Amino acid sequence: MIKSGKYFEYQGCIHIHTSESDGTKSIDEVTEIASQVGLDFILISDHMTLDSRKAGKQRYYKDTLVLIGYEHNDVEDINHYLLFGTEDVLGAKLTPQEYVAEGARQGALGIIAHPDEIRPRQGRYPSYPWLAWDAVGFDAVEIWNQMSEWMENLSWINWGRMLFSPRKSLESPTARILSKWDSLNSEKNGKKIAGLGAIDVHAYPYRFGPFRITIFPYKVQFKSLRTHLLLPEEMSKDVAIAQKQIFDAVRDCRVFVSNCRWGDASRFEFGAHRGAEEVICGGSLDSFENTIMYTRTPDVAQIKLIGNGQKLAETFGNFLEYKPNSNGLYRIEVYKNGKGWIFSNHIRIGL
Ligand SMILES: [Zn+2]
Ligand SMILES: [Zn+2]
Repeated sequence: MIKSGKYFEYQGCIHIHTSESDGTKSIDEVTEIASQVGLDFILISDHMTLDSRKAGKQRYYKDTLVLIGYEHNDVEDINHYLLFGTEDVLGAKLTPQEYVAEGARQGALGIIAHPDEIRPRQGRYPSYPWLAWDAVGFDAVEIWNQMSEWMENLSWINWGRMLFSPRKSLESPTARILSKWDSLNSEKNGKKIAGLGAIDVHAYPYRFGPFRITIFPYKVQFKSLRTHLLLPEEMSKDVAIAQKQIFDAVRDCRVFVSNCRWGDASRFEFGAHRGAEEVICGGSLDSFENTIMYTRTPDVAQIKLIGNGQKLAETFGNFLEYKPNSNGLYRIEVYKNGKGWIFSNHIRIGL
């Protein structure tokens, strides 16, 4: 935990598989690694099982909060959806619309996983896109999924570099998913949808031609895509209360995502004020008039302010101030050497 302005900032990793499904390490080994790396929380989501949670593994392990949900898929094994806080695994025959709605009814946190994979569906490593965009009740989408990006960019030319430097090979969220995420949030009076980073770590033994190698060891992955949450109070030591604090932060979009490979993004700030009113990412102000937006980065970098999907301002430095001249949906993208470093959630003005 880090104190960031008035807020308490917690950083962790989301979308983790263990040997309960197709990961390669046990939940105890995975939590030990997360603790060594210093993560404040991890969200574990094995495929269609909550056995680890039933075995009492949802708990604090030293200073790391371990929350256990699961990854649901439909009968065609697409439309993958992370659910945290359901009473049990939902029915395997439900449609995506049904499992999204049922998760919401139970008060669970629902995250659309790797929504825009565009690899072919066939072959040894098929893609698992989200197609059920008419489902109602999800809370968040993975705007950056390490596994999706890696698989999409892998080729016979770059495979060596990609295998040995998985963090370095991460570029940034795709324009497709960012634009989809913006449009999900711009619906008039619509629900706020958080954008999260996901590592989707399995630590697979992977065969590439004659080579066999474990890609993405957990320790390396835990130092790549992180999701940062801003809480108004310190996270409780009571697991049920801490879980609710995490759900609330995600639903309120007090979130930014970083690739830790390019530096610790702690204390990144994106805020806006209008007279005495002040908000941070996730917040709303009534009108653009007399509104000033600002962002601060913990290191010099290329900062872009995006409004309604368009780049409106850009600077190289560690501070950017901007006076919007229309209502809309604003967010920040930060790059180092052309590679994505930090992506904020939205501030809404007059929406
Ligand atoms: Zn999946
Ligand atoms: Zn997964």
